[in-house]
Amino acid sequence: MALESMSDLLLDQLKDLYSAEQQLVRALPKLAEAACSQSLKEAFEGHLGETEGQVTRLERAFQQLGVKPNGRTCRGMEGLLREGDEMTHESGSESVRDAGLIAAAQRVEHYEIAAYGCAITFARLLGHEEVVSLLEETLSEEKAADDKLTGIADEEVNQAALSAPSTTE
Ligand code: FE
Ligand code: ZN
Ligand code: FE
Repeated sequence: MALESMSDLLLDQLKDLYSAEQQLVRALPKLAEAACSQSLKEAFEGHLGETEGQVTRLERAFQQLGVKPNGRTCRGMEGLLREGDEMTHESGSESVRDAGLIAAAQRVEHYEIAAYGCAITFARLLGHEEVVSLLEETLSEEKAADDKLTGIADEEVNQAALSAPSTTE
């Protein structure tokens, strides 16, 4: 798709996000399954529910704009999730792996926060206020998800990772 205008760029960014969120819906159950900390497992499961809602919100945004949300693969999310998947297969200390899963997940959240921030700016410049509101709801969920992961790392996982000896070698 040629980028003739900022409308084209907004659609391009939204299609990329639509692909990113769908990839994340498929990946979060695997991250939840790999997490040993119960609170980390629950955080991944909780964000799965939110992420499904984010997919729906993007579909509503495409409806508002009168276009179909097809035809783009988010390569950035593909790469981040490949790294996350590698982390789920690491052997060694369970707590250290949990800390690594949090690190991988926070990369994902920051990537999304950057992407939604830009999309919101473009939608606002173009006067698509309904789209801005939808995207802002999602952006605040992404920030909350990121904060929650920081909390689990600070309050539980990092300490356990520091002190727990490896259980598998
Ligand atoms: Fe998301
Ligand atoms: Zn992307
Ligand atoms: Fe997210």
